[in-house]
Amino acid sequence: MSVITMKFGGTSVGSAEAISNVVAIVQESQQRGDEVIVVVSAMSGVTDALLKSVRLAASGDRWGYLSISQELRERHEEVIHQLIPPNGSREKLLAEIASLLDQHVEFCQAVSILGEATPRIMDAVVSYGERLSSRVVAAVMREGQLNAAAYDASQFVITDDKYQSATPLWEETQQRISHQLVPLLRQGIIPVVTGFIGMTLDGHFTTLGRGGSDFSGAIFAACMNSDELIIWTDVDGVMTADPRLDRRARVLPYISYSEVGELAFYGAKVLHPKTVQPILEKGIPCRVRNTFNPQHPGTLIGQNGETTSTVIKAVTSIRNVSLLTVSGRGMLGVPGIAGRTFLATAKAGANILMISQSSSEQSFCFTVTDDMADRVKTAIENELGEEIARRNIDRVEIQSDIVIITTVGAGMRGIPGVAGRVFTVLGNNQINVVAIAQGSSECSISFIVDEVNLECAVVALHDLALEAVEEDTR
Ligand code: ADP
Ligand code: ASP
Ligand code: MG
Repeated sequence: MSVITMKFGGTSVGSAEAISNVVAIVQESQQRGDEVIVVVSAMSGVTDALLKSVRLAASGDRWGYLSISQELRERHEEVIHQLIPPNGSREKLLAEIASLLDQHVEFCQAVSILGEATPRIMDAVVSYGERLSSRVVAAVMREGQLNAAAYDASQFVITDDKYQSATPLWEETQQRISHQLVPLLRQGIIPVVTGFIGMTLDGHFTTLGRGGSDFSGAIFAACMNSDELIIWTDVDGVMTADPRLDRRARVLPYISYSEVGELAFYGAKVLHPKTVQPILEKGIPCRVRNTFNPQHPGTLIGQNGETTSTVIKAVTSIRNVSLLTVSGRGMLGVPGIAGRTFLATAKAGANILMISQSSSEQSFCFTVTDDMADRVKTAIENELGEEIARRNIDRVEIQSDIVIITTVGAGMRGIPGVAGRVFTVLGNNQINVVAIAQGSSECSISFIVDEVNLECAVVALHDLALEAVEEDTR
């Protein structure tokens, strides 16, 4: 008997048809004798709607948040009416959904009175998305003769208080999962747990960051010692490129933890970047599969880096980033400027996605998300105020119309000329490269180009990845 953790994303629970597929997938797994833990996202679009409701509440728009709450009610009720026959359990579920959405409105009222929403309140409000969907999915499963029950992950996943991007307190979480969740499985219950959310030790809802239900899946898989984690989504697996950017994208049958980690970190939405760590440590295999095409085997994610000769496996990109450049002739040989800059950036609360420095030491650059750029620039200017006054540093510049593009593949390691091929392709397409960085793992090369070149660069580099897939399947 295997223990399988299955995470279903927003589209996979986003309609009556999708939820029916979810039930069929879990039924099949149970018939094979597996013990299944289900982790669900909110229905697609619901987290965005909840966030909008808090913003409207903060600006005093009562009609705005009430109408969002009403839309959410109708959306969930429609699915319930389609999938659950009129009986006692439907009424009970409808009452539960209504009660949760009443609480949502109460939160919005409080925000409206205060006139602002703190990250803590935002997390409490968005938690309703998963709390609603988990109840609906569990109830539909029960209609399908599965012994399912909904649970809020806040009861198991204990986190720090970094609201909107919380990190699990592993020991506490492990203990709760072992003592409270494992016994449910042994009683033959299929727990349907909310993804994305956790709770602080003192009882406040937290969330793990946008797209964080994948991470929840990995947390449960690791703490349950699952034999497999399956990420059920709306594409056939991890692909050679974002299928929305290039329709030629093909499914990769296999990718390693470190390759997929790079892909996720550099923008491939198919997997949250934090998903890899917990399962990697335990060596738990992960599959990415399509809820709407369950016959497809999907992509297997595992330990081994080079099962194929493929050099460039996939291309990914991140928009909405800014490049900050610190430059000045007087920087030459002055120790600690980079260190102080990065510390100031961290204190401003920004994550650095990529760093590049030329050997002359007269400038270095790095990227942060657009929304953080001004704050980071000010923080650096404050930190380096003396050097700027002495003109050792000329300026701290922001460039916003850029994107990061990353090519990924463990086969790059030790194969000379890969970077050369990448930049030849870009050169042939007249695409200017603003900055370059290669991780020491040598499993990815990232570079910055102007935003206008995004599609052209992705398509041109994707040709290399597609050539490689062709070679491997030949
Ligand atoms: P879910 O709601 O199931 O978590 P997401 O929307 O978060 O799904 O992630 C799946 C989407 O990721 C796909 O629909 C696809 O458009 C996008 N995506 C981006 N890059 C890739 C890639 N390399 N492979 C597969 N999908 C990708
Ligand atoms: N519902 C959350 C979001 O939209 C988490 C997730 O779907 O993974 O970000
Ligand atoms: Mg996702």
